[in-house]
Parts: sequence; C-alpha cells; structure tokens
Amino acid sequence: MLLKHKLRAWVAGAAMLAALPATAQQNHATDSVTIRKFYDNALTSYESYENLRYLTKNIGARLSGSPQAAAAVEWSRQVMEKMGLDRVYLQEVMVPYWVRGDKEVARILSGRNGGVDVNILALGSSVGTGAQGLSAQVIEVKNFEELEKLGKKKVKGKIVFFNRPFDNTHVNTGSAYGGAVDQRGGGPVAAAKLGAVAVLVRSMTNDIQDVAHTGNTRYEEGVEKIPAAAISTKGAEQLSALLKDDADLKFYMRMTCETRPDVLSYNVIGEIKGSEKPDEIIVVGGHLDSWDVGEGAHDDGTGCVQSIEVLRLFKEQGIRPKRTIRAVMFMNEENGLRGGRKYAEEAKAKGEKHVAALESDAGGFTPRGFGIDGNDSQYAKVLTWKSLLTPYGLHDLARGGGGADIGPLKGQGTVALIGFKPDSQRYFDYHHTHIDTFETVNRREMQLGAASMAALVYLISEYGLDGNGAEAVK
Ligand SMILES: [Zn+2]
Repeated sequence: MLLKHKLRAWVAGAAMLAALPATAQQNHATDSVTIRKFYDNALTSYESYENLRYLTKNIGARLSGSPQAAAAVEWSRQVMEKMGLDRVYLQEVMVPYWVRGDKEVARILSGRNGGVDVNILALGSSVGTGAQGLSAQVIEVKNFEELEKLGKKKVKGKIVFFNRPFDNTHVNTGSAYGGAVDQRGGGPVAAAKLGAVAVLVRSMTNDIQDVAHTGNTRYEEGVEKIPAAAISTKGAEQLSALLKDDADLKFYMRMTCETRPDVLSYNVIGEIKGSEKPDEIIVVGGHLDSWDVGEGAHDDGTGCVQSIEVLRLFKEQGIRPKRTIRAVMFMNEENGLRGGRKYAEEAKAKGEKHVAALESDAGGFTPRGFGIDGNDSQYAKVLTWKSLLTPYGLHDLARGGGGADIGPLKGQGTVALIGFKPDSQRYFDYHHTHIDTFETVNRREMQLGAASMAALVYLISEYGLDGNGAEAVK
C-alpha cells in the first residue's frame, strides 16, 4: 500500500518533470562540477590578488574626485578591456570632492594633568577649524537623548563628545556598527542645534586602538556646519577618564579640510552578454572609491577585484552565461553614493531588467554566505541551491542584506539585492583607517569570496530567480 503510493507519486513527479521546459529543470550534478571548477581556478590563480596589489599599492587611497580615483577608473577600465569581454564602458557621474588638508592636530589640555596628544581624523564632508584651530571645553554624551536633556545652556560653546562604544555582544560586527554609527552621521547637526562649536565621535570599531576611523558625516540646510572628527577609541577612553577627573579641561583641534567643487568621474562597467536571455541582467559589484587614508584594501578594493574575478572565472572556464553579467565598479560610495544612484537612474531610463544585484563591500574575508533582500519566491529559489553552496562554507543564507551601491535599484521590477557576507570579526579593525592595507588581505580568503560570488551568479544566470524555487531538480 505504502509502496504503491510512493510509486504513484514518483510516476506523477516524473510526468511533471517531463512536462517542464528544459530550462526550468535544475541540473545540480552539472552545477556542482561547474562550481568546483570556479573554486579550483580561483584558489590557484594570483590574478585578482595582483590586481588588488596594483589598486592598493600603485594607486592607493582614492577618495572621490581625487587624481587617484581617476587613476582607478582608468586602471579598472584597462584591466577589463584586456579580458576580452563583450563590452567595457564608463558611466559619467559628478561626484563631491572633499580634501582633508593638513594632518589633524588634537590635544587634551588639562590644568591638572597637562597635555595629552590623541589621534583624530576629520570626518568626511566636515568643515575645517580654520588655520588656528579651536579649543573649547568638552561635554561627553552617549546618545542624542542625553544631549537633548543637557540643552543649550550646557552645550553652547563646547565640543560635544559622542562616546557610545560598539556593543561587543553582537556576534556580527556589522550589527555593532549599525548600533553606533548614528553618532557619526547625525552628531554634528544635533550638536550644532544646541550651539556646540565642534564634535568628536568615538571611532567606529570593536577594538581599543590608537587608530582613528574616518567616515562620512552630514550637515543640514539651515543648521550651522561645525567641524567634526573621529577620535581613536584609545583617545576616547583617555578623554573620558580625564573628564571625570577634570570636567573643565579643554580640547584643542586643528583641521584644514574643505569641500571643493564637484568633479566629473565614472562608474566602470564590464559585461558578458547572456546567451539565452541577454536582456536579463545580473550585477556583481563593489565600489572603486575609498577613504583618503590607508589603501582602501578591504573597503572596497577586494569587492572590486572580486567582481572582476567573477567575469574572469566565467571567461576562463569557457562558460557563456545564459543571462548577462555585469561587473560594476561604483564610484563615490563613501561620501555621496552618486555612482550607485546614477547606475539605477540609467537602468530605469533605459528600461533595463535586472534580475539580481550582488555587492561585495564587507571586506575580503572568509566567505560565510549571502544576505538576500528579495521576495519569498526569490529567497526560496536561493535556498534550493543550499546543498551546492554549503560545501564551500556558505551556510549563512539569510533574508535581508544588499549593499549601499545597489540599494538605489530597489523597486525596479523584481530585482533581488544580495549582499556577500564574509566573516565580520576583523573588518572594523581596519575600516576607514590608514591600516586598511593590502597586507591585511589574505589571498585565499579573498579568492574564496570571488569563487562564492561566481557560484551564486552562475546559478542565477542559469535559472533566474523566478519560479518559486519549486521547479524540478535533477
Ligand atoms: Zn565600502
């Protein structure tokens, strides 16, 4: 009885399978072989590692608008030109041009304890202090509510010191960043509204380090623009301790940063045309710009060279994807997102159909999985590939994710936004600092990431993301 039942179900299943068009059947046996080849090739190749070396060592830090950013555009265009892709092109975009100026100076001046030099970095978009610098008393807060409670009377004329640390109980450090970064973005406006003269923000990192972490901040029309800097976590701890001993101490800071007129720059795009559905596009990308300190290795040199590597892996394996694959080096993620916006704008104007966009912008560390921002059926479809991905350590296939540059594509058709998720433990040791350098990137970890991205892009190019994930699997 039971057997008969099973047999009947099997016959019905086989009939259903035969009725489906060939393209809707997933052939996991073949897929598994193809994916293995991606990893074999990536792990034995030095090409993308050498690309990263060039980008970080020869070009270096490449903030939007800088000559180095322009060099990175030309370099990545040439790298992709040499690969024999179907198309390589630039997409014009006007970007902000902020310059740091002289190296910052910062000193805690305590009548009781003397002077203590600390490391600060001006936050991106910040105004300078003037050549003389400024000094004022400091008022420490942990959050915006505390600041509001202090009111104008206690804040006016002072430097507001936002000192809320990362919550280190989060296993994913991105969550800790998410819980602290509002201080960096919103600090200056909130403080200026109460008459503060400048802002210091505790650096965005899990560690206690001597290194300051920059990052962008925001001003608001109609609110005075006051200078804002990140102070190293070690400096923040010192300042906090000294304030407890001497509430009247002063802080001296000097920054000569300024914003110059916008500059013409570009997104750089390389493309392999799809053999069956060339009008269906899959984006794989990272951002080409970086902060102006360090070498922009993990943020986001690795994302760029990994995206180029995805195309190389297809070319080298002789795999012609069914859908079109585009590697996009976005410009200006760090202090404007103009490249990401421009890309989405042009995609919309041209009526392009994007199936998925995958971004690598969380460092070149050991792959853990992907975060999928899509509808139920798209997520279900990705889960049908789980057994193909887990042998490579890609266990974390959770909903939610994406990336800053691909974010503006959201809502265009049914595009799924996917974030590549590497291990997060070391990212915020380096993020936005002068120690985000080539030497901190492990070739194998980075290459595993590139192969992981290629594997997912391959599966999407073969099967699309429609169809409920309910189609037959061979
Ligand atoms: Zn980044």
